[in-house]
Amino acid sequence: MRLTFRRLPAFAVLLAGFLVFDVSSAAGRPQALPPASGPKTTAEATAYAATSTYADVMAFIRELQKLSPLIRVETLCTTAEGRAVPLLVIGKPLPQDPLALRADKRIAVYLQANIHAGEVEGKEASLMLARNILLDPKLPYLDRIVLLIAPIFNADGNEKMNADNRRGQNGPEKAGVRHNGQNLDLNRDAMKQESPEIQGLVRNVLVRWDPILLVDCHTTDGSFHEEPVTYSWPLCPDGDPAIITYMRDRMLPAVAATLDKKYHTMSVPYGDPRDFRDMDKGWQTFGHQPRFVTNYIGLRNRLAILDENYNYADFRTRVLGCYNFLESILDYCELHADELARLAVDADQRTIQRGLAPRETDTFGLDIDVRALPEKVTIHGYEIEVTPREGGGPFPEIKRTDRKRTYVLPYFADFYAKRTVRLPYAYLIPLFDDDIAAKLRGHGLAVEKLTEAATLEVEAFRLKDVKAAERLYQGHRTNQVKGEYAVEKREFPRGTLVVRMAQPLSNLAAYLLEPESDDGLLVWNAFDRYIAREWGRGVETYPVYKLYTAQNLPADRLD
Ligand SMILES: [Zn+2]
Repeated sequence: MRLTFRRLPAFAVLLAGFLVFDVSSAAGRPQALPPASGPKTTAEATAYAATSTYADVMAFIRELQKLSPLIRVETLCTTAEGRAVPLLVIGKPLPQDPLALRADKRIAVYLQANIHAGEVEGKEASLMLARNILLDPKLPYLDRIVLLIAPIFNADGNEKMNADNRRGQNGPEKAGVRHNGQNLDLNRDAMKQESPEIQGLVRNVLVRWDPILLVDCHTTDGSFHEEPVTYSWPLCPDGDPAIITYMRDRMLPAVAATLDKKYHTMSVPYGDPRDFRDMDKGWQTFGHQPRFVTNYIGLRNRLAILDENYNYADFRTRVLGCYNFLESILDYCELHADELARLAVDADQRTIQRGLAPRETDTFGLDIDVRALPEKVTIHGYEIEVTPREGGGPFPEIKRTDRKRTYVLPYFADFYAKRTVRLPYAYLIPLFDDDIAAKLRGHGLAVEKLTEAATLEVEAFRLKDVKAAERLYQGHRTNQVKGEYAVEKREFPRGTLVVRMAQPLSNLAAYLLEPESDDGLLVWNAFDRYIAREWGRGVETYPVYKLYTAQNLPADRLD
């Protein structure tokens, strides 16, 4: 039987007292409905006409706190416009701090919504989920999971609600904007970290709580299909491959199967047609760069799921689809908590071991390209009509017909490196620059300073050309560089910054510091003043050097 979005929790049904179950499902499986008591989200209270304001979200959370002792509110960050972004911590018992989880069999799972504040169903669904867990006498999931929820990550964007935002979206009446209070796209900020939201995410969620899994909730654009839920895994091939293959080949297929069987909700890997005029060319995911939050998490040896709910489904269908997806994910995490914890520990161990004595075969991938995965994807789509736009214009008009059609397509989601360079034992940065040190430490990296000068044989990258982008992007003219590697002996002064690769985040360190990285600090202009000095013509050597052989380096850790 073709998958359909057959049955949704009947949220209108209200019975006094306890959690109730809908036993009318075709599959005969009970499904939790919201309790009769407890606050309603704005979406529920308006029959899915409206979405929550910041004040609505905070009032909902305060109501929950009056009803349960198992929820605490921490501050993820304070936004540019001065709003405190709430981070809900839900646990049984509530851990006082992350240290309390050290000898605990529970894993931390982090759900994030509203990073793009026009894409709002995750905000509603995550609040409903928090309520339905806390007010269920059985307290589902909490034996194995400490739940962290940021329901309104981009609070400033949320408050710029307008009917004109995301006009193609099928409800609610008004939604927020994509950017934050600094006009930045937070889902492009994971590497450069210029927003309080992303800085807060790293400091107060990732470093503080070390969640095994992050789920980032969005809404799609562009493609047409029946599936209300689409998803992706970390895509960057410079992350630990075990994380990528586990998520792609085991975890997400299992989550999607649960979503179908238990929650009767269709899903498909996220994508767009490569060519609307010729669908057979395939289905293509988004980019591999770790500026995208879910890809960034993969570089940190942790698991991440991108949730993209289908733009053209009505708001209720999107909220409930997202809700069911989140429950399917928690179902999986509860059942596989030990396996997930082991996966993360093993990835950290591998990364540290590699850094202690890197071999020639330990490499960093460059010139990343995408190819089709061995498995095709099945999309329950529609026939598409493409017509030239009236009066010309570069893009044709793309129209969805009502004729349903199932496409079985190659899925372009296998990113791979066409070229590699060796990974070092350490990166050395002979700069007296607190901003660079702070940028690195902001990611949670261990950074040291040489306590005495050292003469070392290193590899330098001599820049030949730096091209700044003509178009501004996220407030930057991003750099593209050309150069040559050269071995040299060099004295590094006392105070030189040292980033050793024997640390769990060294895949991230390499992505930030490799000269030819496509999303590193050099791209994002952090080294501009050093590579093209005042009065100077041309460009100089990139001030980050690679030390290949393990060395005893007298250095102190910055903290
Ligand atoms: Zn989005």
